[in-house]
Parts: sequence; C-alpha cells; structure tokens
Amino acid sequence: MTEPSTAPLYITMHALDNVAIVVNDGGLPAGTRFASGLVLREKVPQAHKVALVDIAQGEAVRRYNVPIGYALQAIPAGSWVHERLLQMPAARELEGLPIATVKPEPLPPLTGYTFEGYRNADGSVGTRNILAVTQTVQFVAGVTSFCVSRIKAELLPRYPHVDDVVALEHTYGCGVAIDAPDAVIPIRTVRNISLNPNFGGEVMVISLGCEKLQPERLLPPGSIPIRDERGQATGADAPLDTICLQDEAHVGFMSMVDHILRQAEGHLQRLNARRRETVPASELVVGVQCGGSDAFSGVTANPAVGFCTDLLVRAGATVMFSEVTEVRDGIDQLTARAASPEVAQAMIREMAWYDAYLNQGRVDRSANTTPGNKKGGLSNIVEKAMGSIVKSGSYAITGVISPGEKLTQKGLIYAATPASDFICGTLQLAAGMNLHVFTTGRGTPYGLAEVPVIKVATRNDLARRWHDLMDVNAGRIASGEKTIEQVGWELFELMLDVASGRKKTWAEQWKLHNALVLFNPAPVT
Ligand code: CA
Repeated sequence: MTEPSTAPLYITMHALDNVAIVVNDGGLPAGTRFASGLVLREKVPQAHKVALVDIAQGEAVRRYNVPIGYALQAIPAGSWVHERLLQMPAARELEGLPIATVKPEPLPPLTGYTFEGYRNADGSVGTRNILAVTQTVQFVAGVTSFCVSRIKAELLPRYPHVDDVVALEHTYGCGVAIDAPDAVIPIRTVRNISLNPNFGGEVMVISLGCEKLQPERLLPPGSIPIRDERGQATGADAPLDTICLQDEAHVGFMSMVDHILRQAEGHLQRLNARRRETVPASELVVGVQCGGSDAFSGVTANPAVGFCTDLLVRAGATVMFSEVTEVRDGIDQLTARAASPEVAQAMIREMAWYDAYLNQGRVDRSANTTPGNKKGGLSNIVEKAMGSIVKSGSYAITGVISPGEKLTQKGLIYAATPASDFICGTLQLAAGMNLHVFTTGRGTPYGLAEVPVIKVATRNDLARRWHDLMDVNAGRIASGEKTIEQVGWELFELMLDVASGRKKTWAEQWKLHNALVLFNPAPVT
C-alpha cells in the first residue's frame, strides 16, 4: 500500500464549480494553504465543501456544474460551505423541464479495444458461458436446486467450456394478480433474464403445472426465434424446452430429476461447443449502480465510473444507469442531456410513474438525506443525487427502458429501476447486461451468479480492509495518488480482462451470489 499524501488537498468536480471538497483525513484547520494559493478561513471537515471564490448572497453554489443551493449570505473564498449557508433549490416539477437542450461535444471515437466473448446467434455477446435453468414459479425452486447440484457434480465436469450452471430462482409465479397492468414487470423480467447474453440462447424451463405463470405466458411464441447463419430470424420459433413436474409421465421424484438431467445434457453439449472470439469493446453492455454509499461515492468512485462510462460510449458500447430515486432530483439535467425530445419524454414518463408509485406508499422523499449523509458533507438530496448521476458520464442519453425491458439499442441508456441494489441488478440483468459495476463506500460483498460484478471502493480504508472483496480502489483519487481519469482507465482495462474471462472478480472467486429480486408493483392475492 502506497502512503497517501499528507499535503492539503481538495477535489473540484467541474471546471465551473465554485466549491470543492476537502479530502484530507480529519479535515483541515483554518490558515491551511493549498497548492492553488487558496487559504482556509476556518476549519473544514473532511468531505465538506470549501468556497473556491467569493460567492455573493443569492448566488448559486455550483458542484458538478449544478446549483446545489443558493448562498443565504455572502461566502468569502476559503469558507466552509455547509448546509446552513445554503437555500435548497425547489423540488423539480416534471413540467417545464429543459428538453434536449444540452448538446455534449462529441468526443473522438475510441477504437482498437477488444475483448474475448461468446458471440450469440442474435448478435449479442456473452462474457460467460452459463447454463441457466429458468423457473415459472417458486414451487419448483427446491427441485431445481437439487437438480442443479447434481448437474454440477455429475455433468458439468464433462463440459469444460461451460463456466457454470445457475438456477434462476425467484418468488413470483403464483398467488399473484397476474392480469394486473403492472404484473407485466415481473413477468418480462423473468423472461428477459432467461434470454441474457451469458446463457447462449439455451433456454430450459422448469414448470410445476398448475401455476398462474404458465410457460407459454412466460416465453410466448416469438421469444426464442430460430435464426439462420447470418443471425436473421427465420420466422420460425424454437420449441420451448419445458419440464413440467406435474406431468403424468413422472412417477416419483427421481423421474423428474432424470428428466431434468437428460434435458440439461443437450443444452450443455451445445454450450460446450462454443468458443470465445475477439469482439470489439462495443459489445460490452455494462450496468452501473451504487450501494452502501458514503460521502466519497460522489467524489471518487462514481466520477471514475462516469469517466469510464464516457470511454465505453466512445467505444460504441452500451452503459445503463438506473436508480430512479437517486436521479429524480437531477431530472432537469437528464432531460437536458437527452439526445432527442422523445428520450426526454420517456425519462419524464418513468419519473412520473415512480412518483405515483411512491405516493401510493405515502413516502416523503424529502426524508432521503440521512444525518450520516450531512455529517459526511452532503448538504441535501440535490447534492446526493448529483453524486449518483455522475456515474452516467457526460454524453447525451440515447435511450430509456422501463423496468424489466430488454435493451434494443446501444449507447448511454437510462434503465428505470428502483435504487434497491438487488432489484436494480436483477432488472439490469433482464435488460441484457453482460458486465456489472457496483460502487460502494460503506462496503458490500454483493455479487451475482449470472454476470461478473466489478466492485469499486470509494475509500482507501475500505479497500485496505476488504482487499479480497473490492476489485478497484477509487480511494486513491481522494488521497491524491491517482486522478479520476487514471482510475477510470484502470476500470476500463479491468472490464476488458474480466469480460474476456482472463480475470475473475472477487465475488466470482468466492462465489458470492445474491438472490434475484423481482420488482413487483402489482398486487398479490
Ligand atoms: Ca443501488
């Protein structure tokens, strides 16, 4: 571990900001002189804001090039800018938003970067070669789990090119109002997860028989088209491989088990014939999210992820950012950055839907910032949201998808999901991500069986203590050892290595697998 610098340091998020964040452990005392010549007029705690210039009363205090508040009094350069000096901007209504007004400067395309992936018939690319066992209903989870253990122990060793066998367990499928309008969300989520690029187009469904979510409803005709050599749909459908436990042919549990193992073998044979091939970095489909956030999330890890997001978009790849409740206060920035009015309207539609969903549960979103957030230097929800949105980089937003939908285009995509870590990851998986990036400050051992999860620590201390759980340490940005750009590039290179299977993430190494958690806003019965 390199020694962090002890020189007084601050981090500015944008060239037009008039405040910066003090990064030194324990904060800095009055009289501290920075390399820029700025002198502190008073003590400023770690992760809190210092005025870089004189700010007049009523003037916007800008961080991330966004007004996070308005000065209640004149704030001289070198002052501590805390929440009591700021008037919080009014909550954004969903009317009168700027629509596609910002046209980010097009950056030069990033070419020449590749990874080794599994090309699928539909043109998508997997980063792992996994047999996934889809389930229509929770009732079959025990049987599926029993069979997956046996497949792994008895069959998988004979198919060395298959990475893993994964049961797609979930709690949906029966006892639910399946015709409620919002039931479409959990149903299409399970469907689209089974079609994730990491499963090679091999779909195998275990059904009970009497459940509400029948196999034909989960994967209706057209879900798995037969393709020609050029990957074009032929108009015909592949027959759905369904094993029904209540089938009269099954006499005894072992009959079901034998049937499932027999069917699994056919899928394993086809998956095992696949080989990695060199594909352009544009085939990456990256889902980004944060969880267990701290004051440094928006200073170190999220900006580095944002820089990497720009690299990926320049390389022609797809990046999804999500978490409705953590971007809601920055909606004006997002609609302004939309590539077209249609994209902006789609974003507004998602926010309005979620506002109504929260209202139904009588939730007051002004309660979002915690005492810990404020102690850590986040003055209000606007500033917190800005720290989360920064993961999306600086490019124009080219598309929006609703919860559980599958991506149909490349570029920077807003995938509407709750901020809940498990639900966000599950929905990004359904959207078709083949690589997941997760930033954390407090620390979480999060991982998924279906797709590699690269975890980025916001602080040196977390990276030191969790050295065999965190894949990237963005804390070095705060200690001045690395720049945002350097960590962003490091993450980009690691993504190509992990996507290629050359490196495993720590969560893969230890097989840390969280459950799939469906978002079901519809009633249960
Ligand atoms: Ca989250």
